Amino acid sequence: MTATARPLPVPSAWSAGYWQAAAERRFVVQECKSCDKAIMYPKRVCPHCLGENLGWRVSAGRGEIYAVTAQLAGPPTGFADHLPYVIAVIRLDEGVQLMSNIVGDGALGARIGDRVVVDFEEVEGTVLPVFRLDAGAETRDA
Ligand SMILES: [Zn+2]
Repeated sequence: MTATARPLPVPSAWSAGYWQAAAERRFVVQECKSCDKAIMYPKRVCPHCLGENLGWRVSAGRGEIYAVTAQLAGPPTGFADHLPYVIAVIRLDEGVQLMSNIVGDGALGARIGDRVVVDFEEVEGTVLPVFRLDAGAETRDA
C-alpha cells in the first residue's frame, strides 16, 4: 500500500464473516443466537446480553438514510479520485445502522429518509457493501 492508497478494511477475527460474505456479494448482519438481536458492527460479544454465541443472518440490505453528506472537495488521503462522493449512515430494516457510501443514479441528491438497497463495489480486490437509492421504494413524502 502506498501513502496515497485508499484505506481498506482489515478484517478481524469477529468481522471476517461479514467481509467474506461481502466478497461473495452477500450482505449479512451479525446476530446473537442467545437473544436473537441484530448487531452492527460485528463484535466479539453481544452488546445486549453479553452472549458469545454469535452468527450471521442474511439481510436484504434494505433500509433508509439516517444521515447523509457529500464530499465535494478536500477529500481525505486516498479518496481524491472518487470526488464527489456521498457518505451516509443507513438504518437497516433490522434496526441496526452502519456508515457507507450512496452510489449510482441520484446519489448526490440523496436525502434523510430515502430508501436504499445494498450493492457491492470492488476496490483493489476488496468488495465493499455500498448502497443505492431504491428506485422501487415509496418516497419519504408518499
Ligand atoms: Zn444477545
